[in-house]
Amino acid sequence: MEPAVIAAEQGALNSPSRAQTWLEASPFVLSHVAVLGAIWSGATWQSVVLCVVLLFVRQWGVTAGYHRYFSHRTYKTSRAMQFFLAFLAQTSSQKGVLWWAAHHRVHHKLSDQPGDVHSPVQSSFFYAHVGWVFDSATVETRWDKIRDFAKYPELRWLDRYWVVPPTILAVFCLLVAGWPGLFIGFFLSTVLVWHNTFLINSLTHVWGKRRFDTGDDSRNNTLTAILTLGEGWHNNHHRYQSSCRNGFYWYEIDVTYYVLKMMSWVGLVWDIREVPDHVLEEGRRRERDEIDEPAKPNRADEELTLAA
Ligand SMILES: [Zn+2]
Ligand SMILES: [Zn+2]
Repeated sequence: MEPAVIAAEQGALNSPSRAQTWLEASPFVLSHVAVLGAIWSGATWQSVVLCVVLLFVRQWGVTAGYHRYFSHRTYKTSRAMQFFLAFLAQTSSQKGVLWWAAHHRVHHKLSDQPGDVHSPVQSSFFYAHVGWVFDSATVETRWDKIRDFAKYPELRWLDRYWVVPPTILAVFCLLVAGWPGLFIGFFLSTVLVWHNTFLINSLTHVWGKRRFDTGDDSRNNTLTAILTLGEGWHNNHHRYQSSCRNGFYWYEIDVTYYVLKMMSWVGLVWDIREVPDHVLEEGRRRERDEIDEPAKPNRADEELTLAA
């Protein structure tokens, strides 16, 4: 057999088929459809309370867990709390924690350049928001980018059986609040957490203020900062991704950071990484001079401290 044919076959074996890709994405599609079940079940006050609570708690799980801990290691915690953070983040049904963090590290490495997983600059706004979920190229976990956490067997298990945490939560919602609890408490809050999170991939790379020259199109956007409990300060984050806080100044609300700070007071997390003074001063200088950086094709020399 010709080498080229062998390579092609290996590629076919390694990359999932169209059917497999859609199978992986089917919970995403079906969950949107399931929200319509509320038309049949109606709403109860219990289901609305569940929806609001699960929206906030799981949004925090996404930002504090998937993003600030597993993707960027901006603070430290125990192995038990690490597992809890992974479980909580995965109740949002955004696939495995290792899959999520590895793809996010690729996003930072190639931000708005060819190869970025979800760039509205390289592709459409729609692709950056949800289209990439249906792309066979993003189905597999990028193990080469997440070796630091892949060494924990319990995280590998969670990553492989990523549907377990959201399924447990869905059954819990059904048991405590009936069908409205499932359709509104679980599915509606899940869909809202998804789109809040995806706005960071799509909207904060096209709309907002660019305080720092980061060499990509990242923006600071107040609306998404509120919706995602602090992630909307995305230009700040692309400037210094090792910081636990994305809202660099007192007036940039960052609820995720405030909660983590309180957790550090009782010893649940520690070694929270802050923004260096020279970065804060750089930001103040740019505010003073009213510099709103245009997007540039060249990449700035970011202070990358990722393990991958
Ligand atoms: Zn990030
Ligand atoms: Zn970004």
